[in-house]
Amino acid sequence: MQTLTMILVEDDPGDAGLIRYALKYSGIDHALSWFTSLGALAEHLEENDAPDVILLDLNLPDSTGMATVEGCKALVGDIPIVVLTGHDDMEFSLQALEAGAQDYLIKGKLEADSLLRSVRYAISRARLEQRLRLSEARMAAAIEGANLGLWEWLLPERQFVSLNEQFIAMLGFSADEIALPQPVGAWLERLHPDDLARFDAALAAHLKQHAPNVQCEVRMRHRQGHWVWVMVSGHVASRTPGGSPQRLVGVQQDISERRAMAERLEALAMTDTLTGLPNRRHFMRATDYQYGRVKRHPERPVCVLMLDIDHFKRVNDAYGHAGGDVVLSAFAEAITGQLRETDIAGRLGGEEFAVVLPDTDAAGGRHVAEKLRQAVEAMRVALEDGTVVQITTSLGLTLMQVDDTRPDGALARADAALYRAKREGRNRVVACAQLAEEQPMQPKVDV
Ligand code: GH3
Ligand code: MG
Ligand code: MG
Repeated sequence: MQTLTMILVEDDPGDAGLIRYALKYSGIDHALSWFTSLGALAEHLEENDAPDVILLDLNLPDSTGMATVEGCKALVGDIPIVVLTGHDDMEFSLQALEAGAQDYLIKGKLEADSLLRSVRYAISRARLEQRLRLSEARMAAAIEGANLGLWEWLLPERQFVSLNEQFIAMLGFSADEIALPQPVGAWLERLHPDDLARFDAALAAHLKQHAPNVQCEVRMRHRQGHWVWVMVSGHVASRTPGGSPQRLVGVQQDISERRAMAERLEALAMTDTLTGLPNRRHFMRATDYQYGRVKRHPERPVCVLMLDIDHFKRVNDAYGHAGGDVVLSAFAEAITGQLRETDIAGRLGGEEFAVVLPDTDAAGGRHVAEKLRQAVEAMRVALEDGTVVQITTSLGLTLMQVDDTRPDGALARADAALYRAKREGRNRVVACAQLAEEQPMQPKVDV
């Protein structure tokens, strides 16, 4: 075992003698330095290593009572202090612990055993305190760094009994404006109406023990009126003896930036960058939706058009790929300019486009297709060097059918019609075979 280095601060030589005597018979391998005042201790500490423990008399020439503990604590920081008191007074001794000592000894009852126990206890307690302080500091730094709101909610009372600064600041308030306890209702009122049911369901599932915790992404109204996306996570931390949930604790994090980023990425992933139109994936999803609608409401026809620019290779050859790109985006603008809000246009790839026209029968579809064809024909695209380019487009047309086996079945028919339009000379609208043969325009109904 290592030698324990100890400092005794005691102005009474008799008491100091008793301590030395007790130490000698304690069996502790120790090195003791003795000082008679806080001033002398301070001088010693400036020049020497810190000891393992300090034994401190409270009534010294330069300090008395609790001020001695506080003064010593200020000098020695984390080094454990055992207070030597003449009082057999519990209240007084507890005050000494409050003031920063780790343990106390009553001089009149000083024995080797109790001295040894006390020194060991003070050292281990100081270590624990230090570890606790470190862990608290680490936790506080993490909470601050992650900007985590903390909350503690008493369920029967429907009150927040603890809210940290970050929680309060997340919604634009400052800690001194929010007195605790706070009615939980006042904060739930800030939940976005569209998110309330989701939050309630997540909470109910956890309270019924169907889910290990409550976890929910919701919008909350900021003091300044805008919405803040927050991720709320929590769980029941204690229950009544009868088992009903009593206390809910959790964290809350502002995820507005992550949500905005995800929305931007999603929009990017769905949009063709050249034309700004939905890309194939997004368009197919929208088509799927319309296809589902046709199945439910066969009486509401949905028309599908496919468009392909005529001789686009020649545009590229004549004006370069960059020139071709300018023409493509002008083309997209020209067709969307002719469409209704509810129509969906998409770029399927290259210079192939498609349009879905909800609530539009074959005659209506033909009309729109013809309008698109004319708009493209009338378009004059000015390139950067002033050259003006003129193009035409071919179009294929069909209606979605309730018995289309695949959602893109209609696209395949429109594509076949488009192929015929190309073969028949381009710059024209051709309807798919069934429609062209004047077969019933109404989508078939399952019997
Ligand atoms: P057709 O009338 O039969 O449709 O003739 P076409 O020349 O348009 O024939 P095709 O559809 O086979 O050729 C399409 C061309 O479009 C070929 C390709 O180089 C070009 N293309 C595809 N994507 C782009 C693009 O993003 N930008 C440019 N500038 N050209 C593209
Ligand atoms: Mg083409
Ligand atoms: Mg093509």
